[in-house]
Amino acid sequence: MAKRESEQCAFCGRKRKDTKMLISGIQANICDNCVSQAYDIVNEELSQSGEDLQQSLKLKRPKEIKAYLDQYVIGQDNAKRILSVAVYNHYKRVIELSKRKGGKDKDNEDDVEIEKSNIILVGETGTGKTLMARSIAKMLDVPFCIADATVLTEAGYVGEDVESILTRLLQAADYKVENAEKGIVFIDEIDKIARKSDNPSITRDVSGEGVQQALLKLLEGTVVNVPPQGGRKHPEQKMIQVNTENIMFLAGGAFDGIDKKIASRLRTNVIGFANKDDQEVVDRDNLLQYVAPQDLKSFGLIPEIVGRLPVVTYLNPLDKDILVQILTQPKNSVVKQFVHLFKLDNIRLEFKEGVFEYIADKAIEFGLGARGLRSMLEAILNDAMYEMPSQSGRSEQERELIVDIKYVREKLQKTNVTKLKVA
Ligand code: ADP
Repeated sequence: MAKRESEQCAFCGRKRKDTKMLISGIQANICDNCVSQAYDIVNEELSQSGEDLQQSLKLKRPKEIKAYLDQYVIGQDNAKRILSVAVYNHYKRVIELSKRKGGKDKDNEDDVEIEKSNIILVGETGTGKTLMARSIAKMLDVPFCIADATVLTEAGYVGEDVESILTRLLQAADYKVENAEKGIVFIDEIDKIARKSDNPSITRDVSGEGVQQALLKLLEGTVVNVPPQGGRKHPEQKMIQVNTENIMFLAGGAFDGIDKKIASRLRTNVIGFANKDDQEVVDRDNLLQYVAPQDLKSFGLIPEIVGRLPVVTYLNPLDKDILVQILTQPKNSVVKQFVHLFKLDNIRLEFKEGVFEYIADKAIEFGLGARGLRSMLEAILNDAMYEMPSQSGRSEQERELIVDIKYVREKLQKTNVTKLKVA
């Protein structure tokens, strides 16, 4: 017994009586306090190692990433492929950097530094740019935020500083800086901060070149002081430091009129290089597919920003067929959502042949695009969703709502089209 009393922790030297618990090993003992400290050390070490990051990132290979996107985003195959590769490369880089920091990759002899590959998506509004960025973040299970470039201004002007973008990301990460630092930021409407004139000597425009300069630092990868509440209303708030080195930035914009820049570049190229035989046939109806970094420059993005967004891809405009598919095919398509909502009230919702085509036609006619599909269905089904849950007299099993073109026409006629337009 006396021996037992004299036993002590081999790590901190505490006597048994001074610990809550002393665990005995073959040669030595360890106390509860040291076990818990050792546990923290192991966790910290692991969280810094690339393997752990790889696991926590749920990183998939490009083909798997594309297959994941296919569940949510219809069409846009080219953009999906390019994005899948860029995302894969980005996180491979993140994992490698973290291995190097953890000192695990010492035998990497070539010592090649992979540069960051932020992405720019060019395509009309409502073609799925945000949806793609959001889906990637969901797949990787990393924090995600959308920043609207139009509200950003140079520091010191009325509007939001670029740092506010990171405030949103921090919020999305529940203020866990480490998580925010591997998140994804989607900068929407980047085309709206293009330089208004081709002449760079023009007086600096508050919301144009100055903002691009400010954004540059974030895209490059730097440590930024971020106001946790955002804005300038809380000058007393303590800044949080966020390193943007591993944050993936995706920028999107409609770049209205960029087709003219593309066309003029293609024309020059054709005259300059091609002979009659190897002239490529240019698809004039969809010039966006030829978009290249120099077109973004001609549009008014400064060369440094274009350099920091090296992966450029485009999204196709949505035609009727695609709209029909968007209505019905994605994993959580609007139609599937409504069918489910009705089912919760034991109502079978059925759409007759031709209805989706009719709705897609109307979406095009009213200029609503994919975004309007949901509000159209809402308008079509609202009366039924109001009336049917209170209808009684018939057995629950019998209830169904059959929607045909006549029904849709009637409901849409009652609706003010401008209300269907979603900003
Ligand atoms: P953008 O960012 O290009 O303006 P969004 O990604 O916000 O457009 O698209 C708006 C909505 O339209 C999406 O939430 C989605 O419901 C639908 N949508 C647009 N394009 C597609 C697509 N290619 N596949 C599936 N849904 C789409």
